[in-house]
Amino acid sequence: MTDIQDIKRRFSCKDVLKLKGIDTPAKGNAPCPICGHGTSTPCFGIYGNGQRYKCFSCNSAGDPISLYQALFQCNFKQAVSDLKGRAGL
Ligand SMILES: [Zn+2]
Repeated sequence: MTDIQDIKRRFSCKDVLKLKGIDTPAKGNAPCPICGHGTSTPCFGIYGNGQRYKCFSCNSAGDPISLYQALFQCNFKQAVSDLKGRAGL
């Protein structure tokens, strides 16, 4: 198993949001943690067993690693290394 598969197995998008201190509802959409839109009409959703996210306001979409990059303002390599560290890998 690659590091990336391992990270995705351990972290859902919801887990990544929690690392940033953001709690998301178990069901339905939420305000977008990336663009900040959607406080009146929630536009950010998590799909596919927590492995995909999409915002209908800013059109950002991806997996837990790209969500980590967006929230913590880092590149892919840094995100993988941070998440590995957090998972104790
Ligand atoms: Zn957004």
